[in-house]
Amino acid sequence: MGHRVSINEQVLDISEDAPRLLGGRCKDCGNHSFPWLSGCARCAGSNMERVPLSTKGTLWAWTVQGFPPKNPPYLGENDPDKFESFGVGYIELAELKVEARLTESEPAALKVGMDMELTVEPLFTDEDGNEVVTFAFAPVV
Ligand SMILES: [Zn+2]
Repeated sequence: MGHRVSINEQVLDISEDAPRLLGGRCKDCGNHSFPWLSGCARCAGSNMERVPLSTKGTLWAWTVQGFPPKNPPYLGENDPDKFESFGVGYIELAELKVEARLTESEPAALKVGMDMELTVEPLFTDEDGNEVVTFAFAPVV
């Protein structure tokens, strides 16, 4: 019996009931990054701490990914034979905009400015039988 595991525990924390994205926050200027970076892109400082990001935001921009992405790997399946199109978008959180998979790939169901919330989607099953999940945003209904 496998478990559900995060594709990357530095990016997606699923140890609690609700999934959280982990980003970085600069202790000097308050700038956020996602994923976490060791240096601040705004003030060039290195006083970064890891923080959970908001789980709700709004859709800022989106597209439908019709071919396997080269990277980053947490966005999806790299085997062209198993590939299914999926939505990709930028979600505007309170802290910053993050790029993420969308659970919705039907263009008619996606609209800039709509409310979105964090969820997880299964990516593949590893050799130990664990279900590996990545993060995605779903329209709030
Ligand atoms: Zn900074």
